[in-house]
Amino acid sequence: MSNHANDPNIRAGRGAAPAMPAGSATVTVRGDGIVGCAVALSLARLGIAVQLQGDSKPATAAPADVRTYALNAASRTLLQQIKVWDALPPQAVTAVLDMHIQGDDGAQLEFSAWQQGVEALAWIVDAGALESVMRQAVRYAPHVQVMPRATGGEAYTAAADPRHLLLLCEGKDSQARQSLGVHFDKQPYGHHALATRVVAPAPHAGTARQWFGHPDVLALLPFDDPTPGNSYGVVWSMPAEKAQALAAAGDEAFEHALQEATGGACGALRVAGPRRTWPLMLGRADRVHGPGWMLLGDSAHAVHPLAGQGLNLGLADVAALARVMAEREPWRDLGDEKLLARAARERVAPTLAMAGVTDGLWHLFAHPHPLVRSLRNRGMNLLNQLPLLKRSLTKRAIGLSVAAWCATAAFAVAAGTAALWPAGPAWAQANSAAGASASSPQEAAIRKALADRMPSLPKPDEVQRAPVPGLWELRFGTEILYIDDKGDFLISGPVIETRSRKDLTAERIDKLTAIQFAALPFKDAIVIKQGSGARKLVVFSDPNCGFCKRYERDLMSLKDVTLYTFLYPILGKDSQDKSRNIWCAADPAKAWRDWMVEGRMPPVAMGKCDASALERNTALGQKHRVESTPTSVLEDGTRRSGAFPPAEVERMLSASKNPKS
Ligand SMILES: Cc1cc2nc3c(=O)[nH]c(=O)nc-3n(C[C@H](O)[C@H](O)[C@H](O)COP(=O)(O)OP(=O)(O)OC[C@H]3O[C@@H](n4cnc5c(N)ncnc54)[C@H](O)[C@@H]3O)c2cc1C
Repeated sequence: MSNHANDPNIRAGRGAAPAMPAGSATVTVRGDGIVGCAVALSLARLGIAVQLQGDSKPATAAPADVRTYALNAASRTLLQQIKVWDALPPQAVTAVLDMHIQGDDGAQLEFSAWQQGVEALAWIVDAGALESVMRQAVRYAPHVQVMPRATGGEAYTAAADPRHLLLLCEGKDSQARQSLGVHFDKQPYGHHALATRVVAPAPHAGTARQWFGHPDVLALLPFDDPTPGNSYGVVWSMPAEKAQALAAAGDEAFEHALQEATGGACGALRVAGPRRTWPLMLGRADRVHGPGWMLLGDSAHAVHPLAGQGLNLGLADVAALARVMAEREPWRDLGDEKLLARAARERVAPTLAMAGVTDGLWHLFAHPHPLVRSLRNRGMNLLNQLPLLKRSLTKRAIGLSVAAWCATAAFAVAAGTAALWPAGPAWAQANSAAGASASSPQEAAIRKALADRMPSLPKPDEVQRAPVPGLWELRFGTEILYIDDKGDFLISGPVIETRSRKDLTAERIDKLTAIQFAALPFKDAIVIKQGSGARKLVVFSDPNCGFCKRYERDLMSLKDVTLYTFLYPILGKDSQDKSRNIWCAADPAKAWRDWMVEGRMPPVAMGKCDASALERNTALGQKHRVESTPTSVLEDGTRRSGAFPPAEVERMLSASKNPKS
């Protein structure tokens, strides 16, 4: 009998599907990497029974992975929700407060959390510790059954039983993927990434550093292990032979090479961990779902780690699937393809955009031509001198991790060189899918070019002229890409109008993500009525956010307004504790103002209190892509991120039209 017999979701290609034992798991997750464990825990939270198949390494095994991952705010929120983040030892997480990026011709680009008004640009997390905590969590999670991986080489077919769902999280070398008839296009870079840990003589002060060379990319990520305050995680991508030679070199030779690559910017770095290398490639599955199955994480897409995005993308896949499952119609089965298509659709544009950014950036810096070298460095320098544009870019990139801040920014500025590489990564250029009806010959030509060349890209919901001559806008849900009128070049990034300095892309996305004010769940908000309370303003706010405190003080001066504050604890565990204490106080509105304006701590909530509103608020914010605090929502559904002086809030309130009045 096949050793997959205990797996309800797959069966041997030739054999009969095993009968589903009563009460057995309804979802099978193959692969117990971080993405597999995260999806198992996320679905189990919804009360869905999950069988997790993997290598079943003991949870207490010494962490073997020397990597440090740069994780973004969205990944952190997911890990908080599945109760993994707070279980990480303190030295396994370091906040990135500043980022220094250097080009290969003297260019510099700098970002700071303080200037952007965020708690941190990203968090550097110990890969081994994260995996270990995840494995521990799945062992003790209700609804999760941990099983050893199934062995054997049979072909797989999706289950005929749509009640069940198979999630493949086997990483980029997934075998079952092939058996499902999925083609995984691999474009090796010929580069390897070398990872290790080093200790510096001076404190890192939360500063991440990255050197974009030709062709190496080196990142020193601030870390607190082994020496708190002085350690860095190293991720260095370079040609395979050089990586292997450096991995095998003595400590002294390696330290010397690092000294040269960094120009001594961090002092004399000392090796503090083993060195390991990983071959790098761009990879993408031509299909990520089918009846009863779905691919998540590296099984679906693999990107160059120069932007530290692979795991962030995988965790975003998990968040999208969990959201779709939580919101599914009661009559839909877990394996219903329509359901899986919804989750997959949400992920296509961001995944494609990130693959384009990392691949484009890699090619941009790998290009040997002196003109390209000059352009890329000028682009970085120029961006560094444009605080408004930097802020706009980083505001948009807030969901990305540390290296992606640089990647997004430099890529956008280097847009002048975009014509140097063709539309999207090479894997995206050999496809086939039907186009939709078009209202003009040009739209039809664009749709056809996309369908012929990039069939894995879903049909755009809308193709319309962009505000730039010769450019068209492609809308996928609330994601925007641009394309030229022949459909030859796909462009990802913001369009900035130079006269007004307006970010036209952000404005468009703001419109698309506008919130239906009247439909907001006001019962989950703290309500403060000032004067007649006739005008209404919603604010998503975190009790630990400095800008929210300033905003709250200013909002007090407004007359005739009702303020609805949705506690949105996204900045850390302490934010959740404070939010709970405020929400559970006898008078939440008073506790909120006492804390935000007077700095008086709310009393610790004792005993029973229903604080589930906080979880609902987090889900609500995520659904509407509220990525920073404070975020205000006006009665006409428009939103504004940031703290504004009272005069500006007055202007916003009068400009907004109440659809009901
Ligand atoms: C040097 C380097 C640095 C990186 N830095 C970052 C970063 O800073 N930020 C970031 O977001 N990403 C980063 N990444 C990317 C990140 O490592 C990957 O995207 C992430 O690990 C993918 O997770 P996964 O769970 O999808 O796959 P994997 O980590 O590959 O896990 C797959 C798991 O499935 C198991 N498995 C395989 N086959 C089977 C089977 N048949 N049955 C059961 N189990 C099976 C495997 O044993 C493994 O445990 C980096 C990558 C590299 C190489």
